Amino acid sequence: MDRLPLDGKVALVTGAATGIGRATVLGLAQAGAQVWVNHLGQPDLAQRLCESVAEHGGLARCVEADVSSPAAVASMFEQVLANGPLDLLVNNAGIILEKPFLDTTEQDWTQVLGVDLHGVYRCCQHALRHMQPRRCGAIVNLASDLGFLGRSDYAAYCTAKAGVIGLTRSLAREFASHGIRVNAVAPGPIATAMVSPQHMSDEWMAKELDIPMARLGTPEEVAAAIVFLLSPSASYFTGQILGPNGGSWMGA
Ligand code: NAD
Repeated sequence: MDRLPLDGKVALVTGAATGIGRATVLGLAQAGAQVWVNHLGQPDLAQRLCESVAEHGGLARCVEADVSSPAAVASMFEQVLANGPLDLLVNNAGIILEKPFLDTTEQDWTQVLGVDLHGVYRCCQHALRHMQPRRCGAIVNLASDLGFLGRSDYAAYCTAKAGVIGLTRSLAREFASHGIRVNAVAPGPIATAMVSPQHMSDEWMAKELDIPMARLGTPEEVAAAIVFLLSPSASYFTGQILGPNGGSWMGA
């Protein structure tokens, strides 16, 4: 049988029970990787996802942790690494907040940055401490086109996602000589629970957000970009921000 591109690799995907994370777990398993499914308070969804990976002959295991908690992330990595090396990390967990800037409280700001940026920082740090001496590994962080564009009433989210872009590029530079690649995807609007129902119609999206392809993306379309960036086919990609976005953002 032909070898799959990620045969023998072990991956951890955060916020993996739903949406883009779930599609990424399925994509990674299909590419041959064993996958850790991080979730927060969604044991049934996560377990069912692991079962559907197993039905297709793969291996996925659940690990619960709140990425905004340093202690929870430390214990997640302890559990994962106690079972063997980790080759691939996808920092996907995220929350969004729609609120005018002047109503955004310290607590709102801290909560959004705590998950969307600080969670990425701490998972990267744990993973890189482990990957650096092994001189191999690849990381993909979830940014957003809003990290480039900004958007009214989404200042905390846009700030966090812009931070993810800076963090990704900095880590790419710092760890390239250690054989580790760090990239990001910056999706446009994708049909998941994060996009509120009133915003769900393709017509609304295309008009309001000026998407040349005039439709929302699917979680699978983002997962395909993530799996590519983690695969040997992307061996010369680091510090790159890929944009599955239907053309909504065509900048750097
Ligand atoms: P989603 O809500 O389905 O997925 C987010 C996941 O993160 C959920 O499973 C949630 O339980 C988990 N999560 C939230 N807080 C967590 C925490 N503290 N610890 C661990 N897990 C936590 O939405 P999605 O669209 O699949 O989002 C996935 C990622 O993609 C997010 O980082 C999001 O910002 C990014 N993104 C989404 C879109 C979009 O339009 N849907 C666009 C650009 C970027």
